[in-house]
Amino acid sequence: MNIHEYQGKAILSRFGVSVPAGIVVDDVESAEKAALELQEKNGANSWVVKAQIHAGGRGKGGGVKLALSIADVRKHAGSILGMQLVTPQTGPAGKKVHKVLIQQDIYYPGNTSVRELYMSVLLNRATGRNIIMYSTEGGMDIEAVAEKTPHLIFREEINPAVGIQPFQARKIAFNLGLEGKAFKEMNRFVLALYNAYIASDSSLFEINPLVKTSDDLIFAADAKVNLDDNALFRHPDYAEMRDLNEEDPAETEASRHNLNFIKLNGNVGCMVNGAGLAMATMDIIKLSGGEPANFLDVGGTANAQTVEAGFRIILQDPSVKVILINIFGGIVRCDRVAQGVVDAYKSIGSIRVPVIVRLQGTNAQEAKTVIDHSGLQVYSAISLQDAADLVKKSVQ
Ligand code: GDP
Ligand code: MN
Repeated sequence: MNIHEYQGKAILSRFGVSVPAGIVVDDVESAEKAALELQEKNGANSWVVKAQIHAGGRGKGGGVKLALSIADVRKHAGSILGMQLVTPQTGPAGKKVHKVLIQQDIYYPGNTSVRELYMSVLLNRATGRNIIMYSTEGGMDIEAVAEKTPHLIFREEINPAVGIQPFQARKIAFNLGLEGKAFKEMNRFVLALYNAYIASDSSLFEINPLVKTSDDLIFAADAKVNLDDNALFRHPDYAEMRDLNEEDPAETEASRHNLNFIKLNGNVGCMVNGAGLAMATMDIIKLSGGEPANFLDVGGTANAQTVEAGFRIILQDPSVKVILINIFGGIVRCDRVAQGVVDAYKSIGSIRVPVIVRLQGTNAQEAKTVIDHSGLQVYSAISLQDAADLVKKSVQ
């Protein structure tokens, strides 16, 4: 699950990771109040106003602004709230900003000894161990650093049996070129960050920039936190962090029906049982000259209800020109699924696009008979090649 920066920072701070003082608000009046409160309680004299959307690159898109006065805070909050923020990660349509984070500026204007570093914690799937990835080149596009100056990116792998060791934190602080108080602060930061990652069951922490202030304190100035969906049951308090504004409505609807659905930009809708078969089906669609409009795994126990829900979700997308249903009858019987398809088709009434159904496995022949005799505009195929040929005809 993806969460907002302010929520990620709340989790970090709970585990002793230092983050700048900040208050999230959704209107200009509260933005001013927040800035005044940060001034009184934390001594803030400058602030950053940060758009809260589920996408990075906000700085580049004008979603992060420095405010040197309370009047600036009002002005920036006013212009950022409600804006359609376009960043390199949002796509051309951008995302509407509903909330801004008013945060104490930890760069202290005019001060040149601030350093922007980079740190992330994630799973190295090749070794099955978590790694801390870090670099002296923070604040910018880490992908560009990886491409142009890969030697400036360091990795520290953590042994899961013993967890992070103090020497590893020291090595990281040393490689980041820190000394004295900043070295000690970084040590503490790294240990707290890694332990927060484990304790919160996260799947990604990305701190960019990780800031060393002019007075040698270390702060997570930005925080991208992804929570592991499979561990959410262990953290009932995270449920309220979900922001439906940030999710595709079709994906939200699909998750209500326990369907694994991801919206894509193509013209061939597809409904498949099993994630692996769904990936293979998307390849077949591409080979036939189409583009998948979605990924949809209806799961191992597809029935008439799930098939109907899947149909309805796929049909909401106006760019869909044809639907390919590819079901392997291993646990389910193909003729049952075929009957489900026919029932769903009838219950929805009119379906404006051709539907190609490929059923393979137990009772595949019977399934083909059910579809061929249904009197509906459904094309049946048993082999994947036949299905691909039918897709090709429909998208031409
Ligand atoms: P992103 O663009 O979505 O990754 O958002 P960030 O939180 O990383 O902010 C973008 C940029 O704003 C950072 O790279 C910093 O240069 C700058 N920035 C972030 N926090 C502060 C701050 O407290 N003070 C100042 N002056 N600049 C900041
Ligand atoms: Mn950032």
